[in-house]
Amino acid sequence: MEIKYWDQDIETISRDRLEALQLERLKKTVSQALKTDFYGGKLPERGIKSADDLKSLDDLRNLPFTTKNDLRESYPYGMLAVDRSEVVRMHASSGTTGTPTTIYLTADDLAACTDITTRSVVATGAESGDVFQNMMTYGLFTGGIVLHYGAENLGMMVIPASSGNTERQFRMMKDFQTSIIHATPSYMLYLHSRMADFGIDPAQLNLKKAYVGAEPHSEDVRRKIERLWGIDVYNSYGLSEMNGPGLAFECVHKDAMHVWEDAYIMEIINPDTLEPLPDGEEGELVLTILHRDAMPLIRYRTRDLTRIIPGQCACGRTHRRLARMKGRTDDMLIINGVNVFPSQIEEVIMRMPEVGTNYLIVVQKAGPLDKLIVKTEITRESMTDDTRDLYNLKQRIVEHLRASITIKPVVELHEQGALPVSEGKAKRVLDEREEN
Ligand code: ADP
Ligand code: ZN
Repeated sequence: MEIKYWDQDIETISRDRLEALQLERLKKTVSQALKTDFYGGKLPERGIKSADDLKSLDDLRNLPFTTKNDLRESYPYGMLAVDRSEVVRMHASSGTTGTPTTIYLTADDLAACTDITTRSVVATGAESGDVFQNMMTYGLFTGGIVLHYGAENLGMMVIPASSGNTERQFRMMKDFQTSIIHATPSYMLYLHSRMADFGIDPAQLNLKKAYVGAEPHSEDVRRKIERLWGIDVYNSYGLSEMNGPGLAFECVHKDAMHVWEDAYIMEIINPDTLEPLPDGEEGELVLTILHRDAMPLIRYRTRDLTRIIPGQCACGRTHRRLARMKGRTDDMLIINGVNVFPSQIEEVIMRMPEVGTNYLIVVQKAGPLDKLIVKTEITRESMTDDTRDLYNLKQRIVEHLRASITIKPVVELHEQGALPVSEGKAKRVLDEREEN
């Protein structure tokens, strides 16, 4: 397999040189942070009065964590480290949980952000001749615009389609012979389920790759999208606070996501004790951004659960990789005292060929107990008039789920297209317990 790089020097840099670069950039980040209202008070309390108080990368552990709540409380400019007039771009998080938070970039920050995003798409084998249909939402959300810039920087023809309007998406895919799509995994599945309705014949399309991200999804969902569309699907992870997509991307080997470590320092911590964990162990991802002067963020707690993959990737990049996200620390459900991640449920059902492209998890109160309902769409072929077949399928799903999560759910089978779809991030869980 031929490996292409955007910036081979930095992508294959030795660990020693990379760590020296990280330290230098961390110092710059800390000196920027000291200029902000937020860190200007916090860092000196920890004995960090200037960047020179940092002697080695290990000193990072003496710096305080930053949380989403800190960002909210600093809204709008409490973390701004440059004069407002130097800011050329702002973004806000989509607010999946709570009120939005904002980030700022100078022109140099934006160029650095675009550069690493270009590295990410090149790592998947994208070329300047590709036609890139960007189905992520454009707007305050980083997901759409940031990858747009990275793709354009490579020289791809970018179609800023944004999300929604399925009919128009298909039409553009056909008319412009789109070769790469960027979308949420749930939208890729949904789009495929509507192909026949819009009279689209896969032979009319030229699709080769999809970049999917913005929401948790299992390896089985990736495989399902690959199988349905006959393409390569790459996982992309990012968050607005850290400039959005481009931060972690799979390369052609599709074996976990490289994090550009000259731009980010990653740590995995135990979310309860806050102690750092060694490579390979699962915990909460904590990130420090190194290439943003306008708004430094130090040891930001992402609340996302994952692990660092030890060892080097076959592509030759020395930047370490992150495993697929297990979910967020705050999306764990406690059902009758048992901890359940929605990703565990997805993993089980998406492995079953009869299960279609959409599902919904509902948790309700049933007297003193909790009731877990898993609603799944099933494929057109599996939707038969034979109630015995349907009953058997339902029982099999119940048994597989019970074996995995130890709780016996109620399973409901629905026709394809019957469950609600959302344009942005999919809403897979309805916890109706709080409302009662
Ligand atoms: P919000 O916190 O408002 O949803 P963002 O729109 O920035 O803000 O979303 C970032 C979050 O989306 C991440 O912290 C993570 O939980 C989730 N996410 C993004 N990409 C992926 C991915 N590839 N796999 C799993 N989760 C993802
Ligand atoms: Zn690789």
